[in-house]
Amino acid sequence: MIILLNNLRKIRKSENLMRPRKVRSLAVRHCDGGSCNGCEHELSLLSSPCYDFQRFGLSVVASPRHADVLVVTGSITVAMVDAIRRAYGAMPEPRKVVALGACALGDGVLGQDDRIIGRLDDILPVDMRIEGCPPTPEQIINGLTKLLEQA
Ligand code: SF4
Repeated sequence: MIILLNNLRKIRKSENLMRPRKVRSLAVRHCDGGSCNGCEHELSLLSSPCYDFQRFGLSVVASPRHADVLVVTGSITVAMVDAIRRAYGAMPEPRKVVALGACALGDGVLGQDDRIIGRLDDILPVDMRIEGCPPTPEQIINGLTKLLEQA
């Protein structure tokens, strides 16, 4: 018993256990700013057995109050600006914003219209831009894991 207790004390004092561990997870909240659903289709594949994005510490949450990162897809329509800003406002600090896909980057894939703002940058501070129409699941995971490394 005494030997066991001594070993336990040694383990507790070991450098690895005493060092604070870095948190390695990122909770994602998605907002559709006015997309064709192509980006959403690729985004939904992340949780499939093929990509299994939870193994990287990534997860999708239903509320922005639980989110670390806001992922926005689609051409930003005037009708969605308020909802996107409110979702961002509800997120705890530090919070990140990802513009996902050519539309959110302002490439105008879905055309120009008075009801379309276009660039996510015009309404929120964007931390990460993921290109593509739509971006592949690999591109999305690469972008999100880069954010995870910065966290
Ligand atoms: S970037 Fe392409 S796939 Fe994504 S919403 Fe725009 S048109 Fe659709």
